[in-house]
Amino acid sequence: MTDLAQWAADRGVKFFLCNFTDLFGVQRAKLVPSEAIAGAQEGGAGFAGFAAWLDMSPADPDMLVMPDAETAIQLPWKPELAWVAGDPWMDGQPVAQAPRNVLKSLVKKAMDQGFMLKSGVEPEFHLIDADGTDISDNRDSQEKPCYDQSALMRRYDVIAEICSAMIQLGWKPYQNDHEDANGQFEINWDFGPCLETADRHAFFKFMVKEIAEKHGFRATFMPKPFSHLTGNGCHVHHSLWTADGQTCVFDGEDEMGLSAVAYHFLGGLMAHGQAICAITNPTVNSYKRINAPATLSGATWSPQSVTYGGNNRTHMVRIPGGGRLELRLADGAANPYLLQAVLLAAGLDGLERPLDPGKRLDIDMYSEGHKVRSAKNLPLNMLDALRVFEKDKYLTAALGSEFSLAYLKLRMREWTQFCQHLTQWERDATLDC
Ligand code: ADP
Ligand code: MG
Ligand code: MG
Ligand code: MG
Ligand code: MG
Repeated sequence: MTDLAQWAADRGVKFFLCNFTDLFGVQRAKLVPSEAIAGAQEGGAGFAGFAAWLDMSPADPDMLVMPDAETAIQLPWKPELAWVAGDPWMDGQPVAQAPRNVLKSLVKKAMDQGFMLKSGVEPEFHLIDADGTDISDNRDSQEKPCYDQSALMRRYDVIAEICSAMIQLGWKPYQNDHEDANGQFEINWDFGPCLETADRHAFFKFMVKEIAEKHGFRATFMPKPFSHLTGNGCHVHHSLWTADGQTCVFDGEDEMGLSAVAYHFLGGLMAHGQAICAITNPTVNSYKRINAPATLSGATWSPQSVTYGGNNRTHMVRIPGGGRLELRLADGAANPYLLQAVLLAAGLDGLERPLDPGKRLDIDMYSEGHKVRSAKNLPLNMLDALRVFEKDKYLTAALGSEFSLAYLKLRMREWTQFCQHLTQWERDATLDC
């Protein structure tokens, strides 16, 4: 195991952000000086669990976050500081509902069955004004702004700094682009074991926000920050491998280059497609991105129903080529750890039972979706999603009953708060009733 004190001394690191991610995806940290990191590595950094979104009580004892030394990253834009992901413990036990622990137990379950999930995420984001009201570039106004070279160049300094940091970290980024909404960008890097991808996804969100702020902008991963523009998705490309990570068991000989195992995994995604929305599309605003009317660019690029197709971007799952699947459902609010966990849980159920995903649809779901009567619709709002999740006995057990109860409680509270909020739409639609 890496000795973090020595690691810091070798690199001139002065401080560590001893980090954990809570149920709502908020990253929390204690800033620990390198002089004291040996103690934190041995005994954890202390937190009051109730102060984060974990469904704990103020009377609970200290929660100790044990840094996972293998995740330590020296910040390329602030080299005296390092970030390290950690696992919350309490009373000598891992905190069952903590997202990284949830993912770790599913990774172990998959290992015990002889499998490793590898994945790559595409976390889209908008660069907006510091006050959050509008996109940051008022010249970025094309109807079809995707891949707009000029708009990309006007944000070159920000995007290149993020991408250079990723090169330095060895993540193998391979492309950056202006995405389909005005003000929207995407940066892609290489896939890896799902826990590593989740840690990198968490760090990526932190890094993008930090570097954007340094340049006087603000980055948002909000699912639908502007109602007329394409929202921020977080597609997950994924493939299942043997436990040693050497052989891809999704590789196959059929016309899509997939194996029977891949179709069973896909069967799990189809069977739990509505329920997983509670995790992949976790917040009120998520439901403004899926099921949405066409945006200014002509398409939302987000799904409306539980269907899959070949290399076709109008379905919940796309088969982009041999040996992998792309889940297009998730959005920028998805918790990096729970996103991988729920995908793995649903897929493993497909393998165990084993499940048949049904027929591939090769149609444009946006214009022809109404013809497919058998397709299940995605939930229209957060409450619908939470209710389907609550009823899904397999999924709630697979993610852990402590987790599922805590998650449902906190998200129901959020839904209630939303319902108590009086919106402008209600006033516009009802004032003259
Ligand atoms: P697209 O925009 O066409 O959906 P991107 O190139 O933006 O695709 O993102 C593809 C993601 O899929 C990257 O993170 C890439 O590393 C990942 N990926 C590629 N092959 C595999 C695979 N076999 N298993 C898991 N992820 C993969
Ligand atoms: Mg104190
Ligand atoms: Mg992409
Ligand atoms: Mg994209
Ligand atoms: Mg994609």
